[in-house]
Amino acid sequence: MQTNEREFRQAQQFLTERDHFLVVSHVQPDGDAVSSTLAVGWLLSCLGKNYVMVNEGPIPKRMEYLWKSDKIVDLSKTLHAESYKHVICVDCADFKRTGKSSLLFSEDAEILNIDHHPTNDGYGSYNLIVPDAAATVEILFDLIRFMNLEMNQNVATAIYTGLLTDTGGFRYSSTSPKVMAIASKLLEYGVDGPGLSELLLEQVTLPQLKLLTRALNGLQISEDGKISWVSVNDDDMKITGAIHEDLEGIVNYPRNIQGVEVGLLFKVINENAVKVSMRSAGKVDVASVAQTFGGGGHVRAAGARIEGSLETIVSSVIEQVKQRL
Ligand code: AMP
Ligand code: MN
Ligand code: MN
Repeated sequence: MQTNEREFRQAQQFLTERDHFLVVSHVQPDGDAVSSTLAVGWLLSCLGKNYVMVNEGPIPKRMEYLWKSDKIVDLSKTLHAESYKHVICVDCADFKRTGKSSLLFSEDAEILNIDHHPTNDGYGSYNLIVPDAAATVEILFDLIRFMNLEMNQNVATAIYTGLLTDTGGFRYSSTSPKVMAIASKLLEYGVDGPGLSELLLEQVTLPQLKLLTRALNGLQISEDGKISWVSVNDDDMKITGAIHEDLEGIVNYPRNIQGVEVGLLFKVINENAVKVSMRSAGKVDVASVAQTFGGGGHVRAAGARIEGSLETIVSSVIEQVKQRL
């Protein structure tokens, strides 16, 4: 079945032979992170296991329709002091992506690392890493099948959500024939495909649109027209009333300009830290750019949190991109 059958078998054993799990994903979770957390939760429920799902912060509001999304503990709001020996990390390219959730790992914790980032450094005690997968939920779809569990509409909706968001609506090059076959199968379970596209890809909130307008007002482009970038600071967030999830998608605007090879979004976190989102038209491997700054991701979509002032970070990231053009 799978070429990496051994990893799937190990993951299965990890889940069936243990109990009392902690399921975590990356900070500022996207659709794949939330959906993967919930799909693992669903899988553990099927096995009759005890588990807790946590994230460092809140899950995006527009994903509250997902089954048991309200059960993901938001560590920024809830004190959760227990520690766990059996941990499942999903969609986290490296250990520090788990953020403050890692404070709940016991010192002797065993980690099952399930992910699709090519930059994943294999930090788990067990690693189920499939870089060809379009999303972590694709791996979970395979794992659920591998374990002969019968899916239902709830878990199908989560998996579809992760696929839809990580492939940009089944448009990115990661949209393989297999992804489409899985999506087709999920629709048969009653997933509302058009409804999810409308909610997750089409609808915008007014603050989100205002934030986009402000960001685009400051759009910059390199002399050769191959790199374009925007930046967002705290004032932009406050004045527009935008929240973190409203940043999603802004980076595609500079990247979509004809002739641009790399689009960048610089989000000022504080005086001395900036989150950079990188998108490539295909020529430049932005994962390698992100890695030089301690981040990671995929060839065409990557990110990093970088220490320093906005000005210095903008020029050093652009310098790194230029070297690869
Ligand atoms: P984003 O720009 O946040 O949408 O992220 C694009 C891709 O890069 C996603 O696959 C992220 O999981 C990954 N990524 C973003 N930030 C980091 C980081 N600091 N370290 C590793 N991977 C990241
Ligand atoms: Mn993710
Ligand atoms: Mn992902």
